[in-house]
Order: sequence, then structure tokens, then C-alpha cells
Amino acid sequence: MQGSDRIREVTCIRCPMGCVVAVECDGSGGARYVQGASCVRGREYAVAEATAPERMVATVIDVPGCPEPLSVKTERPIPKHLVQDAVCMAKQAAVALPVHIGQVIVPNVCGTGVPIVATKNLDQSFASSRAFADATTSEK
Ligand code: SF4
Repeated sequence: MQGSDRIREVTCIRCPMGCVVAVECDGSGGARYVQGASCVRGREYAVAEATAPERMVATVIDVPGCPEPLSVKTERPIPKHLVQDAVCMAKQAAVALPVHIGQVIVPNVCGTGVPIVATKNLDQSFASSRAFADATTSEK
């Protein structure tokens, strides 16, 4: 995104056309004027990106006793300015084996009402594979 405080240029990523859309913000979270979008979908994307950008958050976190990191993500996009805080909350979450896909790791990230959920299964076999690897290494 480029432009002045009032007029922002957004490159639409909703299709390969990549239209450059100018959005004039009204200063209260809305848009006064939009130019350059070739379709409604792109217009909506550009207004949202200029006035209240959101992002999905995906990261990996440690699970005590498990050598395999746990991949997690927000269930829905959250405000872009909260992305770093969301990553910190995920990394500080207390998680124990077993973990199942879709399990809630952080129920309400940064007060958004959006949960962070696991995106893979982890069970005791991951922990025991570490114990096996450690035992094999120490025998050498
Ligand atoms: S505005 Fe419409 S046509 Fe242009 S890039 Fe976005 S989705 Fe594609």
C-alpha cells in the first residue's frame, strides 16, 4: 500500500489482473472515494485493506517434551497491527500432548474473539521418538 494519509493505493491481489486501486479514507475508518477497481470484489478488498487491514497469522510453537514443533494459525484474519502480539501469545501458550488438529491453543487472541488453533496432530509417539533418538545417540 502506498499514498498519502488520506489517499492510499492498494494493489488488489484477488485475481492476477493486479489492479491498482486508489482509496480516499474519510478519517473515521471508512472510504470516501475509490478508483481503479475493475470489479466489486476488488473494490471491497481495497477498501478493507486501506481502512482496516487484516491478516491470518500462522506460526509454530514448542510443546514441552516434544521435539516436533506444533503449527498453529488463527481461525480467521485479525487486525494487521495485532499480528506480532498474536504470535507472542501463541508462543506463550501452555500446551501439553496430545494435541489434535483444530484444538484451541489461545481462545481469544488479543481480545479479537478469534481463536488460535492447532493445524496438526501431535501425540505421545512424537515424544517417545525423541526418547528413542536420544537413547540411540547416547549408545554411540
Ligand atoms: S479489482 Fe477485480 S479485476 Fe482487478 S485485480 Fe481485483 S479482483 Fe481482479
